[in-house]
Amino acid sequence: MSAEWFSQLPPVNAKRLAVKVTPDALRQIRGGSPWVYDGSIVSASHEGTAGDLAVVFDNDRKFAAIGLWDPASPIRLKVLHKGNPQTIDDAWWRHHIGNALERRSGLVADPDTTGYRVIHGENDFLPGLVADRYHDTIVVKIYTPAWFPHLPMVIDALVAVTGAARVVLRFSRNVLSGFPSPGSFGLTDGAVIVGTTPTSAIRFKERGLVLEAEVLHGQKTGHFLDQRDNRQLVRGMAEGLDVLDVFSSTGGFSLAAAAGGAKSVTMVDLSAPAIDAARRNFQHNSGLHEVRDCRVNTRVGDAFEVLAQLRADPLIDGYDVVIVDPPSFAQNQASVERALKAYRKLTESALGVLKPGGMLVQCSCSSRVTPDDFFDTVHEAAKHAGRYLKVQRRTGHAIDHPIGFEQGGYLKAIFARA
Ligand code: SAH
Repeated sequence: MSAEWFSQLPPVNAKRLAVKVTPDALRQIRGGSPWVYDGSIVSASHEGTAGDLAVVFDNDRKFAAIGLWDPASPIRLKVLHKGNPQTIDDAWWRHHIGNALERRSGLVADPDTTGYRVIHGENDFLPGLVADRYHDTIVVKIYTPAWFPHLPMVIDALVAVTGAARVVLRFSRNVLSGFPSPGSFGLTDGAVIVGTTPTSAIRFKERGLVLEAEVLHGQKTGHFLDQRDNRQLVRGMAEGLDVLDVFSSTGGFSLAAAAGGAKSVTMVDLSAPAIDAARRNFQHNSGLHEVRDCRVNTRVGDAFEVLAQLRADPLIDGYDVVIVDPPSFAQNQASVERALKAYRKLTESALGVLKPGGMLVQCSCSSRVTPDDFFDTVHEAAKHAGRYLKVQRRTGHAIDHPIGFEQGGYLKAIFARA
């Protein structure tokens, strides 16, 4: 991609919208909510296009907040800033993104962890935008077309603040198929907009372990950074044990277990490229004798089916640790019940291959499933399977995924002996 990657993008519209919202929405904005739904908009000065800046005024015509207008989304306005009047310019983006980096200063300063989330969407008050850093590369993923006019300034600020050498743009499915599409501005998913196109996956460190991220076309931005702390917990408990890693993706949990001295790891995932990457991740760390000595098994296939096969296999007498980290099962509110049913089934299947007294690590990344519902479901399913759970920990995401508002937390994990 040329240095003029942004030449076809629309400029930031100088004409701002003036918006009035319901009293309840105003209260929520002041309380820190980044979302204003279409039904909460009382009036707007004009129709507006995606990415126009919209100012929310209160009943005294005083500035309350400013955000991105998103006419095709039910979340019509995405708040960037609330409180005192604010101009959204170069200096503001730098300051804002600098603050986000500051919130992660512990990670930024750690030479053993060079992969972390720099911007966590609405939780860092950049709604619908995620930026993950892998060593010298930043992957920016866009979840709403409202970002298009602002991308040049945002990318400039990100590079200035982080010193990254390369930036890759990724788009969510709804942006790729939505209007206006990235293609209409000459952009493609996986476009390298700053720096050179990488010839292989980007290597980075997570707690001293070398991992690779397929930044151009991999799942999400190339790696699931949110599980870093949970992997570290597994690393601390794995010595001498047989570990089953269901929904392993590129093997983050398994590699941590191996580094912690696991006797064997078995990774299960539907994605063959993810399992291939997992094998490479083990090679990248073969300098560690714990990793070299760990027996590595992989199974490409459906987790539910593989769990049933493992249970029925007379040669397998169970695992000491079973990790279950599925994708989000509830894409909308209507599918929450179905998701809970899937969690129940997974708990029962996982316990079916867990040795007595072994450790179950089960996770949920469905933001619509509440922690209480998830933990209750796992407990009920265990009871149904005739196992009693002794909970050691309930955890969430790592600190580079801050929870900035009520719906901002999504990852839940339970560590329990069964
Ligand atoms: N545990 C991983 C992240 C898991 S993300 C880590 O620490 O990095 C969810 C994974 O589930 C994805 O890799 C996806 O390929 C896989 N997946 C989705 N549906 C599946 C299914 N039915 N059976 C097995 N794997 C599945």
